[in-house]
Amino acid sequence: MSLIAIAFWNCNSKTSGSEGTTYTAEQMKDNPLVQESTLPYFAPDFTKIKDEDFQPALEYALQVETEAIEKIANNPEAPTVENTLVEMEKAHELIDRVSNVFYALTGANTNETLKKLESEMAPKFAAHSDNILLNDKLFQRIKTIYDNREELKLEGEDLKLVEVKYQDFVKAGANLNKEEKESLKGINSQLATLENEFGQTLLEAANNSAFIVRDTAKLKGLTSSEINSLKVEGKAEWKIPIQNTTQQPLTQSMDDRKTRENLFMKAWNRTDGGEFSTLDIINKIVKLRIEKANLLGYPTYAAWNLQDTMVKTTETVDDFFAQLVPGTVKAINEEEKVLQEKIKSDGGDFELEPWDWTYYAEQVRKEKYDLDEGQIKPYFELKNVLEKGVFYAATKLYGITFKPRTDIPTYHPDVLVYELFEEDGKPLGLFYGDFFKRESKRGGAWMSNFVTQSHLLNKKPVIFNVCNYTKPAEGEPALLSYDEVETLFHEFGHSLHGFFANQKYPSLSGTSVARDFVEYPSQANEHWALHPEVLKNYAIHHQTGESIPQTLIDKIKNASKFNQGFAYGETLGAAVLDFNYHSLSVMDKDFKVNVFEKESLKEDNLDLKNVPPRYRATYFNHVFGGGYAASYYAYLWTEMLALDTGKWFDENGGLNRANGQRYRDMILSQGNTLEYKEAYKAFRGKDPGVEAILENKGFD
Ligand SMILES: [Zn+2]
Repeated sequence: MSLIAIAFWNCNSKTSGSEGTTYTAEQMKDNPLVQESTLPYFAPDFTKIKDEDFQPALEYALQVETEAIEKIANNPEAPTVENTLVEMEKAHELIDRVSNVFYALTGANTNETLKKLESEMAPKFAAHSDNILLNDKLFQRIKTIYDNREELKLEGEDLKLVEVKYQDFVKAGANLNKEEKESLKGINSQLATLENEFGQTLLEAANNSAFIVRDTAKLKGLTSSEINSLKVEGKAEWKIPIQNTTQQPLTQSMDDRKTRENLFMKAWNRTDGGEFSTLDIINKIVKLRIEKANLLGYPTYAAWNLQDTMVKTTETVDDFFAQLVPGTVKAINEEEKVLQEKIKSDGGDFELEPWDWTYYAEQVRKEKYDLDEGQIKPYFELKNVLEKGVFYAATKLYGITFKPRTDIPTYHPDVLVYELFEEDGKPLGLFYGDFFKRESKRGGAWMSNFVTQSHLLNKKPVIFNVCNYTKPAEGEPALLSYDEVETLFHEFGHSLHGFFANQKYPSLSGTSVARDFVEYPSQANEHWALHPEVLKNYAIHHQTGESIPQTLIDKIKNASKFNQGFAYGETLGAAVLDFNYHSLSVMDKDFKVNVFEKESLKEDNLDLKNVPPRYRATYFNHVFGGGYAASYYAYLWTEMLALDTGKWFDENGGLNRANGQRYRDMILSQGNTLEYKEAYKAFRGKDPGVEAILENKGFD
């Protein structure tokens, strides 16, 4: 199939790029990104790829897709799935391949050249996607197929592809008339500017409104190395940078109550009025999002945004929240009592305030649940955790096996490569693990594909996981904390979703699913980290070879139940705020962010004095600066699916091949080919319920 596509590009060698630069197929004949790799699984050939190959390859790949789309849109033949949608899938192959490698490197191994190219390409990618989604001729062809889908007797992936593409176009405004489309473009561009401004303002606020201390007595409780790292050079000043959440991590060890309060208030008010105020921006964004939703035929932004998700309706999300509130609040009240008692027993005569919470919680944690990382880490050696934990669980569940491949080139010497095989020995795909922190890598952990699985394009998955573990000194073992162990299981859960993809069409394949579904398989895989059989196999002392003692396992388990009311309450508060803003259908003239925020939390019984939301609107970058508007709920929703799935495994015999196969067949291998809700219900035997969350957190 890909050969056909290459021949097709060659016929269109005369093209013009967005800035008049043209690239010909001839010029690309030695470009290792444009030319298909000859390595196993079409793995990118990092022995050949150089930084300077990216710019021409990206530009050329965009040209190729643009031309192909024009050709599809102008095809004189009547539209069919084959001559329209299948051609679109093929047209996307090259840009998908080139950009997969590009973004893998900009995330995990970047440099000045790639950074510069990344910011140059961002607006080009945005314009490219707009040009496709607002191409009316193309949309009319898709619409014709969609409208006739019954007469055409479309089924299976063909039907799903038509539905998904039609919805993508409609969601982006393809059904609007010319005038409305212009209005929408105007709104989108204003929103993009405001969202960018929001993010920039937060950054400025963070850089310019750090909390300054002029007397180290106020920092009592912090370690001397923490204090040293805050010191401003040449001045008798200590500067605490404001983190993006409401709670500031350092308050948990600050003995001076007034300093805790001042730091908290500084963070709380960082962008609420004053020089770095975001209040106006929020007003404008909320208003524009309502206008956008109305233009697209929806009463609220949330309703518009949910149309292609698992939950589908705003009522589902409101119900979900409502069911979570009582248990969470009850747990918070109980935790509050414990902390208040701790204050009293320490000789304090004051009422608990939000800036006291993490401080006293830390004291209680140390007394009751102290998990000494130094004691645990020797049992969690990276390669053991990976091969004898993460891979072992996958073998037990899915029968798949793993073989190291030292012959596959990588972009950094630390990257490990494994080949995966099915139970019957058939090849399944390639897995790259890039685990250590370095300066060229952004923070966090993630999974992505170099090659997306697709039967149409004859591709098996090539997948990578990136983490940020501390690299040990030469000859020393890489030892992980328990949180880091969980991250490894999490990211490999995404990988399994990618490896078991079994789709014809790449745009329906594997992890190409809704936001309120994509974090489900990853979190579900965390279930196996503490499973006794798995744990026994991987948690082995790197020096003595002994298995982790039960007392330590119990400590890990107990600690995971501690302070959950607070932690969950913070996140739930943020999710509810996000959703309430985007459930507005009108905005009063005298709309005030602060008033709205307080009232809307109150209405949902979440106006908790001591547990404020993890983010207020004024610094909620996911929602007002990024792409998580009306979507923050998805974190909690997918966690529910994952925990509920863990329950299903526990109720049905746990870690075995039959259970793994069922989960693989019904969920992991389905990509975006089924209705999420129905697929889940079929697997679980019932709808997901909040009980799984309440139980896991120890709420009742
Ligand atoms: Zn994830």
